[in-house]
Amino acid sequence: MGHLIVAVIFMSFPQSLGFATDTLAQDRLRQATQLISEEKFEAARQILEAMLAASEHPPPETYCQLTLCYLKQTEWKKAEETLQTFLRLSPENFLALYLKGYLLFSTQRYEESLRVLEPLIERQPGNAASHKVIGLDHFMLGRIEQAEAEMKRATELAPKDAEAHYYLGRIVTTLGYIKSEILPRAAEYGMNSIEVNGRPGDGWDIAWVIGFEKYPELAALFPKGERRERMALVEDLARSAHDNLLEFLVWNHELYLPPGFVELYPKVKGVDYPVCLSSELLKKSIRNKYVEFFQGAPSVDGVVISVNESGQFSLITDAGCKCDRCRRLSQHERLMAVLNEVIAVTTEFKKQIVLRTFRRLSSTICTAIQSWRRFAGHSPGFLGRCR
Ligand SMILES: [Zn+2]
Repeated sequence: MGHLIVAVIFMSFPQSLGFATDTLAQDRLRQATQLISEEKFEAARQILEAMLAASEHPPPETYCQLTLCYLKQTEWKKAEETLQTFLRLSPENFLALYLKGYLLFSTQRYEESLRVLEPLIERQPGNAASHKVIGLDHFMLGRIEQAEAEMKRATELAPKDAEAHYYLGRIVTTLGYIKSEILPRAAEYGMNSIEVNGRPGDGWDIAWVIGFEKYPELAALFPKGERRERMALVEDLARSAHDNLLEFLVWNHELYLPPGFVELYPKVKGVDYPVCLSSELLKKSIRNKYVEFFQGAPSVDGVVISVNESGQFSLITDAGCKCDRCRRLSQHERLMAVLNEVIAVTTEFKKQIVLRTFRRLSSTICTAIQSWRRFAGHSPGFLGRCR
């Protein structure tokens, strides 16, 4: 996302800010600006940094162009420091304030970003770039309608801005159909709840939405903004469902680990089995997954667990890990080792659990459900028959 936005900064603002200064410095600045327009940020950065090192009073625009390089290279701290120097020299400079808003957006300070950018829109209502970042801020905050309005304005002001069209299209097509067509008509069909469903491989599991805040090495494997967008979408749909008097539930798999997890955290590995169900790290990762999800999308009413259809593991039938601790566990205990973590979090957050299976139920799962009811102190929704 950052890549595209910085590209748009160049389209939306004239390259020169018109500061008068000595010729040599202006030549070098021009050279750096040219390199930036060719996306040669490292080369431009070296020239600009050398300019700052050589002179106590470089042209103010040097700071601005250097900030652009740092933003492009995702060096947020350096970008912020450089920008602050620029803003001290020129506190009302439009481009500097825009860059500040953009920087705040990029570092997930969406409300602060809005506080900087909204006054800019009052100064220049036709500034497409500001409308766009404001739209993205709203999007990340789950205010999809405002996001849509701002993005629409950006596309009207800059009809050739492919990126704004892209985001508008994504916002509208992803949400539009469900929000405008399905949710309002649900009551006509006697529906009282809506569920998001899918197999992990098709792209739906809670692990597909959360950013793995507690697992930085794993989080680094995913594009960060994408996870935030997904979480915002889920929260927005849950709120829209409530507006239409529907409950909103998400399907999930009792045990699903995203690619890379076992390799990064080898402690969860089992003996002759991909995972060890006695591993505290594994149990904690399940718990953290639900905690992060319900904190990020607090309007979701609960989870549907498709027991024994998790795609990767079949806890009811798998022989499981052969370590000393797991070997002593019964099938029921193996299943409950995982389900107990889900129960603990859903109980803490006062969320529903719905157990669902497409198979004829074994006595194992019926025992699990009975002990679950006793444990959780509330009755999970359930579709299926105990024989
Ligand atoms: Zn084990």
